[in-house]
Amino acid sequence: MSEQLPAAYVHADTVDKAVELVSADAETRVVAGGYSLLPQVKDGIETPDRLVDVSRIDELRGISHEAGETCIGALTTHHQIATFDLVHEHVPALAEAADSVGDYQARQQGTIAGNLVFADPKYDPPAAFLALDGRVVARSPDGERTIGADEWFCGPGETALGPDEIVTDVVVPDAKRSGYVRTSEYSGYAIVGTAAALDVDGDAVASARVAVNGVKPFPIRLPNVEDELVGKHIDDELRSRAASAELSDINLETLLMNGVVADHQRLQLVRTYCRQAIERAIEGD
Ligand SMILES: Cc1cc2nc3c(=O)[nH]c(=O)nc-3n(C[C@H](O)[C@H](O)[C@H](O)COP(=O)(O)OP(=O)(O)OC[C@H]3O[C@@H](n4cnc5c(N)ncnc54)[C@H](O)[C@@H]3O)c2cc1C
Repeated sequence: MSEQLPAAYVHADTVDKAVELVSADAETRVVAGGYSLLPQVKDGIETPDRLVDVSRIDELRGISHEAGETCIGALTTHHQIATFDLVHEHVPALAEAADSVGDYQARQQGTIAGNLVFADPKYDPPAAFLALDGRVVARSPDGERTIGADEWFCGPGETALGPDEIVTDVVVPDAKRSGYVRTSEYSGYAIVGTAAALDVDGDAVASARVAVNGVKPFPIRLPNVEDELVGKHIDDELRSRAASAELSDINLETLLMNGVVADHQRLQLVRTYCRQAIERAIEGD
């Protein structure tokens, strides 16, 4: 086994040290829980010269809530997110996505940053992060910057994170009316997962974000579904519209027209789970 592992494995005790190490060498990779990266190294898909283990950096831990936003340290595990009252209260979609991570061990060891950086289309938190309009806080030798969810996912397994940057936090604005639902295959991973977040002014939907994973190599928003929701009153009519296929029909056609990598069966799942995520968001608060 050892010949597949990189020559150097070092622990960084501070973010500054980790930044220094990753920015010194393009072939250095950060490792947190190791649940996504280490199998790739073992299989020779990733061949870094050096791994920088950030799992002992205390400043990357913790969840706090201030000024209408939940700030989650990069090393926070899915289990911690799924079981933290503040997250359930302010951003239920994120708690539900974390709780959806299929295996107990992966929930215990896998981190939010590792999940979002690896950006696998089968993963759950990315769709919730996108629907919740979250942002990643990253540090490099040039300082700190934030990257919004709409800019974060660039391609299959690709994000806007630079090679010399370390994720320090993931920040999500309050969205009490939000939800995440998914269907799983035998492996435990999602076939399709959908997240919805509604901002309500009075009893009308002021803005809506709906995102789906599993139909493209990275999560996407469903703008036509969002448009259908905005301006509508939260009443029985909207509940029944959300409960009917009508709400997502237009968007499914758009997906097909845009050549999205998805078959009809998968799109049917999008329709079903999209509807459920919207219903969950409507019922929130
Ligand atoms: C058996 C199994 C089942 C799973 N089931 C699910 C599931 O159902 N749903 C789901 O969503 N996920 C699932 N996962 C994936 C799991 O959620 C991820 O493996 C985990 O969250 C990745 O986090 P990590 O800390 O282990 O990342 P690592 O493997 O340590 O790193 C992953 C990537 O992120 C980078 N990285 C990590 N931390 C930082 C940082 N702070 N700054 C910059 N870059 C960083 C690494 O360099 C690497 O590129 C499963 C995994 C396993 C092994």
